[in-house]
Amino acid sequence: MEPKDSTINEAFKGFTNDACPFMPCHQGVKREFNCLFCYCPLIAYECPGPYRVITDRHGMKRKDCSPCNLPHNGYLQSWSFIQKWLERPILWDGHEQTRYTVSLPEEAEPRRADSTRSD
Ligand code: SF4
Repeated sequence: MEPKDSTINEAFKGFTNDACPFMPCHQGVKREFNCLFCYCPLIAYECPGPYRVITDRHGMKRKDCSPCNLPHNGYLQSWSFIQKWLERPILWDGHEQTRYTVSLPEEAEPRRADSTRSD
């Protein structure tokens, strides 16, 4: 049993830093703006966000996550989204985002190798 399983207080799932000079750093958030995942835990993994691929000065492919608000859109929704995608993380291989088009964190279900979905 984890500590989060022994409380009904869900305050640990998000917060908004209204004093941040970069607020709002991502556009389009209509619910509580969750700053908890300011550095997205999915940056090195497969994710459903609308990132663009850039190449840095060392020749490394990286995600530009400027247009993504999935880790920020609602405290509970973004918390659940990150937990679900970190459950069985798959390393990102540098590909462009062509697999997902979602606009809300609760819409994206990870595709699993053992999935029975055919898409
Ligand atoms: S595109 Fe969105 S979900 Fe994916 S790594 Fe970037 S911020 Fe995280």
